[in-house]
Amino acid sequence: MSNLIPSPITSTVDLDADGSHHGFLKLPYSRDDSAWGFVMIPITVVRNGAGPTALFTGANHGDEYEGPIALFDLAYSLQPNEISGRVIIVPGMNYPALQSGTRTSQIDLRNLNRTFPGRPDGTVTEKIADYFQRVLLPLSDIVVDCHAGGKTMEFLPFSAAHIVPDKSQEAEAFRLVEAFGAPYSVKMLEIDTVGLYDTAAEDLGKVFVSPELGGGGTATAASVGRTKRGLRNVLIASGILKGTLEKQPTQWVDMPDQDCFTFAEDAGLIEFSVDLGDHVAKGDIVARIWSISRTGVGPVRILSRRSGMVLGRHFPGLVKPGDFVVLIADLID
Ligand code: ZN
Repeated sequence: MSNLIPSPITSTVDLDADGSHHGFLKLPYSRDDSAWGFVMIPITVVRNGAGPTALFTGANHGDEYEGPIALFDLAYSLQPNEISGRVIIVPGMNYPALQSGTRTSQIDLRNLNRTFPGRPDGTVTEKIADYFQRVLLPLSDIVVDCHAGGKTMEFLPFSAAHIVPDKSQEAEAFRLVEAFGAPYSVKMLEIDTVGLYDTAAEDLGKVFVSPELGGGGTATAASVGRTKRGLRNVLIASGILKGTLEKQPTQWVDMPDQDCFTFAEDAGLIEFSVDLGDHVAKGDIVARIWSISRTGVGPVRILSRRSGMVLGRHFPGLVKPGDFVVLIADLID
């Protein structure tokens, strides 16, 4: 029973102490270039007396940058006298993946967001998941995990929460999504829930919010600014941070079924016929794939499986069979 083994990760900061404390989650990792080495995951804990605990993370996927940038900034600037309660900030949750600028860890090639609940006696990524599962999530009331499209996807900026069985938990998550104030707010459907951090947090009864803030493996002034404001808004709306909400207009969108997702069955150059924010009808051409192996061959057309608005798309210029092409969502009045 691996869950009876204590986590090998130790925190250099006291998670319960008042004040602002910067340190590391130290994960022992013996390897060729460092026999007695550790993976040093930066963490900040800001606490001021009683109140709720917010757990903020970035780089669950290492090629998504808005979260890490906004969270290093928040960790540097947030003062204990501004808050009631506790804010735990881990800007680089899958730290080895952030170091290499890749979605997955280059140590064990694991996707942290498919690894929950993890194992204390597993690989490096499994040990990180287990520490969040058994140490940090139980301390928390509100969990915000910042994502973006990464190198292979681009999204219109949105903040999302899931439909969950507990309706008061769900209502609180949607309230915080609205407070985050991204241009779009989403009632999220997942393609594959096995091993998600989202599910791990929600199953423990935590209020979970997941922004998807841009993409392409970079960040813009607008996307980082939006993330910084959204995170402060969530802290204010949960009664942790003093101040007034910088309310932003948001358009609610719904992803009701798997027809929202379209995938490629061919390889080649992808020529989009629609862009983010465009509206499509079922059967419209959303993209054409041109083979790069010869001239004189027509493109394969990719048709929309439903009507709605283009919320996300494949980012690189080349596409392969099985790649995600577009995400089409419904606007809600
Ligand atoms: Zn992600």
